[in-house]
Amino acid sequence: TDKIRQGLTRTRQQLGKQLSGLFGGRKIDEDLYEELETALLTADTGIEATNRLLESLRTRVRRDALDDSEQLKTVLQDVLTELLQPLERPLVTTGHTPFVIMIAGVNGVGKTTTIGKLAHYFQSQGHSVLLAAGDTFRAAAQEQLKVWGERNQITVISQESDPGKKSDPAAVIFDAINAAIARKIDIVLADTAGRLTTQLHLMEEIRKIKRVIAKAIPDAPHEVLLVLDANTGQNAVSQLKAFNDALGVTGLVMTKLDGTARGGVIAAIAAQFTDTPPALRFIGVGEGLDDLRPFNAREFAEALFD
Ligand code: GDP
Repeated sequence: TDKIRQGLTRTRQQLGKQLSGLFGGRKIDEDLYEELETALLTADTGIEATNRLLESLRTRVRRDALDDSEQLKTVLQDVLTELLQPLERPLVTTGHTPFVIMIAGVNGVGKTTTIGKLAHYFQSQGHSVLLAAGDTFRAAAQEQLKVWGERNQITVISQESDPGKKSDPAAVIFDAINAAIARKIDIVLADTAGRLTTQLHLMEEIRKIKRVIAKAIPDAPHEVLLVLDANTGQNAVSQLKAFNDALGVTGLVMTKLDGTARGGVIAAIAAQFTDTPPALRFIGVGEGLDDLRPFNAREFAEALFD
């Protein structure tokens, strides 16, 4: 919890600057609601989530006959928790060996770093992990994965494991899954390319990867994990839509929450996908191995309005 509080410092300070005057000894009136609205929108909460939060807040204020803004902080934590709760569905990897996780996202969002952190997370839970360097277009990404692999003593299957082959990401991942089956590995983390030269091409390529994964194991991938960068704000929402249409996203990781004042984007996602809320599996709150945490709505809401 402390780590998450610390990670959300920027968003909290940004909100705090605007909220500090609100949460103490003031009358709860229209002016106050308006200031609150501005603060939420500045943190990239988006218009839908902001409206919903304010509506719930008003309802609670009426119901409990609150008249002092002192009590508003707790109420705000409660209504945000309520809004975010549908996103809180932790990733369960039991039931499949190997459990195949396909990791998608545009370049720069923190995909490679997240794979390293995930490997560390699963290992710390006693699982064996294998990495598939499926981003064959970025030599740097493969190098980076190998470094992660070495540091964590994890096998990384890359194109170079089989230099005779052409740079076909689907083939690398197919080989990796077969290697994992042979070695009885628990979890396969499959990296995919994320360059956005033409979105159509990228989507076709990752769809092909998904099909090829299913050829190795019929019900795989067991998780399609989309990595989003909190700094991109509302853009993260459009990325989710695009990848979901192409691929069927089953889980999200929101990275770089520590480096942004836009932590409200998580609420924006909750409000815009009310019918089928995505599962926010993890949040990234720093660059270190340990800075990936399972998402917890209450913890997040309390850290944000602290
Ligand atoms: P990729 O292009 O998507 O594979 O992105 P990288 O994994 O190479 O990450 C890009 C940059 O973001 C690197 O400098 C990472 O250290 C940084 N990064 C990734 N996740 C986080 C995070 O949760 N917090 C912070 N502060 N930096 C992160």
